Amino acid sequence: MTHWTIDKARKLDAHDPLAPKRAFFEIPEGVIYLDGNSLGVLPTSVPDRVQRVVQDEWGKGLIRSWNDANWMSLPSCVGARIARLIGAAPGSVVAADSTSVNLFKMVVAARRLRPGRSKILTETGNFPTDIYVLQGISDLLGAGTTVEKLTRSGPGSEHVLDALDQDTAVLCLTHVDFRTGTFHDMAAVTAKAHEVGALVVWDLAHSAGALPVDMTATGADFAVGCGYKYLNGGPGAPAFLYVAPQHQNQIQPPLSGWMGHAKPFDFGEDYTPAPGVARNLCGTPVVLGLSILDEALKVFGDVDMLDVRAKSMAMGDMFIELVEARLAGHGFTLVSPREGRLRGSQVSFASADGYAIVQALIERGVIGDFRAPNIMRFGFTPLYLSYEDIYRAVEALEGIMDSGVWRDEKYSHRNAVT
Ligand SMILES: *Cc1c(COP(=O)(O)O)cnc(C)c1O
Repeated sequence: MTHWTIDKARKLDAHDPLAPKRAFFEIPEGVIYLDGNSLGVLPTSVPDRVQRVVQDEWGKGLIRSWNDANWMSLPSCVGARIARLIGAAPGSVVAADSTSVNLFKMVVAARRLRPGRSKILTETGNFPTDIYVLQGISDLLGAGTTVEKLTRSGPGSEHVLDALDQDTAVLCLTHVDFRTGTFHDMAAVTAKAHEVGALVVWDLAHSAGALPVDMTATGADFAVGCGYKYLNGGPGAPAFLYVAPQHQNQIQPPLSGWMGHAKPFDFGEDYTPAPGVARNLCGTPVVLGLSILDEALKVFGDVDMLDVRAKSMAMGDMFIELVEARLAGHGFTLVSPREGRLRGSQVSFASADGYAIVQALIERGVIGDFRAPNIMRFGFTPLYLSYEDIYRAVEALEGIMDSGVWRDEKYSHRNAVT
């Protein structure tokens, strides 16, 4: 039994401090979007900004816009907006490149700060690109650098804490697990790593804009994260990177491009890194992508991440309760932590028929996603979802399961992107 009703959901919406934010997003008619953890929704003000950047700044301003429209400072301006969301000191975040590329830059930089140690630690369940990049780094740096993948042994971070030792150079973890939404205690893990002299690189792909994180308070060394998920920067948006102030002038960037040079327009023949976090830039800023991300981040300008967190936990709790009450007997197994405070901004259920069920849901306007091998993943983005949406999403799922329409063979055809 569940005490949830549509009226109760609507009552919560009526008292939701974040409800007015929905008007800042373009949500297609008839869509309930539970995939903002994979590609955020289009903010309403973005098309005008794109128009302005393309037609005025580029079309009319031409090359003058590098100065006149401040194109050059986009990486640091966008970085400053993100810094506020992740508890980072001013001047310690830049937006550039992709998460994968930034992870490469940060891990190599961190590794170079710990010569004489050989291990880079990560987790077996980490997002594949993170593991692939680490394997590439190990190949590149040769025998002195090994990657060790740790397997979770329980709900906490014990497997990581136990593995840290004097030979660990870098610990590279994704804060919120992309499949299950389980997350690490960033402060405790970082403290233990520092105790043995290791450095930590955090991947905030499923944290930035989703839950409060605090780079400064947790003592994080380095971080990277995604622009197109919870930050709504659009498909292929630039990613970001964070370097703690004490490391900024110590690191030697492995991708020593001219945009990270102290004086790029001197056109000197030798590389001199720029002071601060800017040395981690490489090539020319992607002006269109950065402009969109800059515009999208304005929606977060007056948002308190504690409000986002409270609503995200409440929505996740509601979703779990409704699914378990109304879909009992359909073989769904909760694979996310049941307790909201232990869960990121998503809820995942395992089901052998997960792929087909998610496709049938998408056809009915409820968009979640599927992650191999058997996970149905539903993301909660408090800025543009209502409690009524959550109620309706479970109703749609119930309709699909009770009627058995998901068994139609058209739903089991796999697309390239799942
Ligand atoms: C989404 C995601 C990425 C994506 O990396 P790209 O370089 O943008 O493709 C990386 N790591 C994690 C943990 C992710 O969730």
